[in-house]
Amino acid sequence: MEELRLRQGRERSVLRRHPWIFAGAVEAAPSAGAEPGALVKVVSSGGEALGWAWHSPSSSICARMVSFGDAPPPGEKDLRGAVMASIARRESFFVDGRTDAVRLINAENDFLPGVVADMYAGHVVCQFTSAGADARKDGIAAALMEFAPGCKGVSERRDASARTKEGLETGGFVRMLGEEPPEKIEISENGNRFLVDVRKGHKTGFYLDQRDARNAAGPLANGREVLNCFCYTGGFGIYAAAAGAARVEQVDASAEALAAAKENERLSHCCGTKMEYVQADVFRHLRECRDRGRSFDMIVLDPPKFADGRSQAMKAARGYKDINLLAMKLLRPGGVLATFSCSGAIDDALFSKILAEAAADAGRDMLCTAKTGQAADHPVALAFPEGRYLKGAILVRA
Ligand code: SAH
Repeated sequence: MEELRLRQGRERSVLRRHPWIFAGAVEAAPSAGAEPGALVKVVSSGGEALGWAWHSPSSSICARMVSFGDAPPPGEKDLRGAVMASIARRESFFVDGRTDAVRLINAENDFLPGVVADMYAGHVVCQFTSAGADARKDGIAAALMEFAPGCKGVSERRDASARTKEGLETGGFVRMLGEEPPEKIEISENGNRFLVDVRKGHKTGFYLDQRDARNAAGPLANGREVLNCFCYTGGFGIYAAAAGAARVEQVDASAEALAAAKENERLSHCCGTKMEYVQADVFRHLRECRDRGRSFDMIVLDPPKFADGRSQAMKAARGYKDINLLAMKLLRPGGVLATFSCSGAIDDALFSKILAEAAADAGRDMLCTAKTGQAADHPVALAFPEGRYLKGAILVRA
């Protein structure tokens, strides 16, 4: 078995069960003959066994830990066990029948580095974004088919940019086992219905990570006029309509996303709510609303990732402050702002600081009534703080 020896003093993070080994921490890498994704034994500079990892020779994260300590190397059975355990942690999702779109495997946070598996009404869609995950994907798919409740089939999406960093081929959507999913899969989320395009939609098709936030913000919309910025396929707006919003203005830059949002309106119980669709850049739209003296009772800001790493954090912070300041100005007294950031490089403390600065500059007293994070099927391993990227706040204008 190939070995990876860490530099002296660089074993701390592995001893704390952090899964990533960066190339800079390595004294002696596995030999050039070691296959991408191979299981390698990780040892300290003194030769002490620290655990086992999947080798990623082309990435700056050159190995990902899959077990810690001096246990024997994990095999096929352990892989099946890890998939089974990950699904078992989601058991409660399969009880009430109101939600049938669930993340079954959340990569490093479920001890399967680089493996994402989302199930949409029985159709599982995977992304394999580490060499180790890619090398084991057939075994993982077979375990998903066997253990995921009501699984109809397992497919792979290969467009994740992370695959490029790992030297893995990209492009396409491949059926692995069972049924080929339909072009659009109808899902139910807390009783709200959506059509999901698992081939071309964002992520694996839907922002499952915002489920709990949609559920927290939606009910606050009763009787209100809502501006849903960065609406994608309508999520927060559909929840708002189901809760009895008077009017929902769905805003997104993408015509395709808006077309999908309209289809979702047809599937849902939006009667009684006036639904409107605006194709626009949110930065511009908010300014236009300001210049025209418009106001709202509730605004949702759920932008895409503004920072792709720490170097972009300051620029991203300016972007978040800008849209939040504008939104706070557009809120009527008593109005609600549900605001989010999915940039990993902006942590919760910084996001809160940005919101406080925006409120100060807007001249508004804002109260925080709730904080949100990733939905429960996107757990964060405490040893892996990088796993927590999504944060949000529900604010009320005093
Ligand atoms: N709130 C959504 C997810 C939002 S994803 C949900 O609950 O499902 C981010 C969305 O922002 C994408 O649909 C993307 O098309 C849109 N977007 C990105 N930049 C934008 C901009 N500058 N103005 C308007 N929309 C933008």
